[in-house]
Amino acid sequence: MCGIIGVSGIRDAAHLAYLGLYALQHRGQESAGIVAIDETGQARAHRGMGLVSENFEESSLSRLPGDVAVGHTRYSTTGSTVLANAQPCSANTRCGPLAIAHNGNLINAGELKRELVEQGAIFSSSSDTEVLVHLIARSDAGNIEDQIRDALEQVDGAYSLIIAAGRTLYAVVDSRGFRPLVIGRLGDGMVAASETCALDLMGAALACELQPGDFVRIEDGQVTHLRRLKPRPVSRCVFELVYFARPDSMVFGESVDRVRREIGRQLARQSPAPTAEVVFSVPDSSNAMALGYSEVSGIKLEYGLIRNHYVGRTFINPSQNLRVAKVKIKFNPVRDVIEGKSVVVVDDSLVRGNTSKSLVQMIRAAGAREVHLRLGSPPITGPCHYGIDTPTREELIAATHSVEEIAEFLEVDSLSYLSLEGMLRAAGPQTGYCHACFSGQYPTAVPEELVQLRHASPLVATPV
Ligand code: AMP
Repeated sequence: MCGIIGVSGIRDAAHLAYLGLYALQHRGQESAGIVAIDETGQARAHRGMGLVSENFEESSLSRLPGDVAVGHTRYSTTGSTVLANAQPCSANTRCGPLAIAHNGNLINAGELKRELVEQGAIFSSSSDTEVLVHLIARSDAGNIEDQIRDALEQVDGAYSLIIAAGRTLYAVVDSRGFRPLVIGRLGDGMVAASETCALDLMGAALACELQPGDFVRIEDGQVTHLRRLKPRPVSRCVFELVYFARPDSMVFGESVDRVRREIGRQLARQSPAPTAEVVFSVPDSSNAMALGYSEVSGIKLEYGLIRNHYVGRTFINPSQNLRVAKVKIKFNPVRDVIEGKSVVVVDDSLVRGNTSKSLVQMIRAAGAREVHLRLGSPPITGPCHYGIDTPTREELIAATHSVEEIAEFLEVDSLSYLSLEGMLRAAGPQTGYCHACFSGQYPTAVPEELVQLRHASPLVATPV
């Protein structure tokens, strides 16, 4: 998963993109980058590993002049965690500089890359996005818009893209609409972002949310809708609403906060915990869910777990005698809230089960009498191939264990998952959500190599 930003027609565009990326930090912490294009059409880039705050300072931003910019925060789903894969992905083509920020995952990138390499193409990264750069650059269509369309007709999977071609910005969402993308207006200029929380920080007003298959040109303060991509059944990622997006964002036309509260209410109706005295969330993604659970059940809402917000990615594993569970660095229980009580803990999802197992141990050690775990989504039984970083099927605890076995493993007094119907009801009146990781109903064919090589960096060349 990634966060993407575009700026058009605004002075010091890189500074604004930097602000936007800050608001999208939750969508990717592995690397951050900005490409800015100046008034003469010259593109300059700065990318680095780690957080936005670790990568940019006044001096690096001032070396990115121009009123057009594209920005990216990365969370890898294909390709390894190396600087070469940091985005925006950029190149000089016969049509001028091209910079692409991609959120999603192309499912046929491996196959396309092999064909391109066969034809003599040279790749400098293992990211699927570079395949797109090649396809655009090599297209023999008559103009850049047709070249982009030509490339998009060859790729399959999930892509929300912001593309700078020369000084013109393009934004596009694949026909299934897996990932969000919004456009905002700021003075005489325009911005684009993965989530509305970035528009808020940039001071832009929401102009529109791109719909599945939308392809727009952003130039001179205008958004021009180009011919839409070939329609396909809509397949918005429901996990954006459950876990990924920030609650202060509107995603797919829904308030993320509203959806999460409703998930909590549905959970309380479907899976009450009659003996419990307090309910609390695993912060932060399930805060609103615990609120909804408390509202319907009448169980008192408390802050039972405190999250350390300063953990960062660069955490150094302590030496053997200081080794503590990583989860202990991130969360600590509030003994005064928990001691002697029967508690309901609300979390959005269970993946491998490791975090939750440690959390339950911690909560018991803080004196809980009973621990009832409630999850705001159904069991995750399959990997995501569309941009969420999930492990292989074998590592997903719900793929190989029953709910009873998982409850036993986690050592909880009771465990309930929200049903698929309950989650979709909470997501709102729209239909057309992708819930493949929960239901196994994948909206595309999934190439066998993607299934086999999930997380083994299928696009990385083997060193010789
Ligand atoms: P675990 O207990 O190891 O199964 O991890 C579950 C926790 O991981 C939950 O608190 C979720 O909020 C969080 N989570 C769910 N999906 C992801 C993801 N794709 N990346 C990182 N964390 C996630």
